[in-house]
Amino acid sequence: MQVIETVPGLRAALGRVRGRGMGVEFVPTMGALHAGHLSLIDAARSRAGAVVVSIFVNPGQFGPGEDFASYPRDRAGDLKMLAAAGVDVAFVPSDAEIQLPGAGGTTVRPGAVSGVCEGAWRPGHLEGVATVCTKLFNIVAPDRVYLGEKDAQQVAVIRQMVADLNFPLEIVVCPTVREEDGLAMSSRNRRLDPAGRRAAAVLAAALQAARQTAERGEYSSAAVAGAARAHLEGCPGVQLQYLEVVDPGTFARRDRVSAGSLLVVAALVGPVRLIDNVQLVPAAAPSLGVPAAGKGKDES
Ligand code: AMP
Repeated sequence: MQVIETVPGLRAALGRVRGRGMGVEFVPTMGALHAGHLSLIDAARSRAGAVVVSIFVNPGQFGPGEDFASYPRDRAGDLKMLAAAGVDVAFVPSDAEIQLPGAGGTTVRPGAVSGVCEGAWRPGHLEGVATVCTKLFNIVAPDRVYLGEKDAQQVAVIRQMVADLNFPLEIVVCPTVREEDGLAMSSRNRRLDPAGRRAAAVLAAALQAARQTAERGEYSSAAVAGAARAHLEGCPGVQLQYLEVVDPGTFARRDRVSAGSLLVVAALVGPVRLIDNVQLVPAAAPSLGVPAAGKGKDES
């Protein structure tokens, strides 16, 4: 595995890759790698191109007072994992190498998809994500980019950006990898203390309860979300931030559950902020525009 720290170094290496007729598979990460990241790498390795993984803790997507300074970092451990996973190139640039736009510089502002959920709770976060992804996509020029379903709003933002701005690449979305108790794997899980780690499992349990409620035929988003809320409220150490049924493409709120709707959640577990989501599968597709008896009007 080549470990490359500079933009010119990476472009030269990938120029040689393309010269051999190979494509480029790209997995962007912020490091502190876990099995979720490895699943993206496995998906990338199943394709014919050279696999490039970037590790860059992007200061541009952390707001003031957020956990940029305490975000877990483990360069040596990460590089070992990447080499063992059969990655071709690890791109590990410094902040100076990436040169995020300063005040007054050019940034990428996502559209309405960034106005709710993460966008509302973390002002500037999704703009920071879109801007750094633009820079990384221009540096790596990948054929395919691998993203995790766990960060569903990030996926929606990047999908729309790629379509709106004509990036010549394909997005591949991979399912969320979970711990045995259902907790979605996340670099931030390393920061949970033992009590927080036990409490964090309630997020996945809550989402499953909601999913089952929808599967039993409940189409009201309030009722489906309510099933999750019942698990979360009063759970010691867990502070709910949002719990919403949204359209997976636009993140518009949905008052009624339909096939593909997402239930998205964010909560603080002690000092650690976690997000997760589940796809809702209603018992049968609701009839077009005609609310089920007793379930109220679809206002979405
Ligand atoms: P991060 O390092 O947290 O920025 O994540 C890098 C990529 O890995 C993103 O596309 C994430 O959505 C994805 N990812 C993070 N956690 C998981 C997980 N548990 N399962 C699958 N993909 C994940």
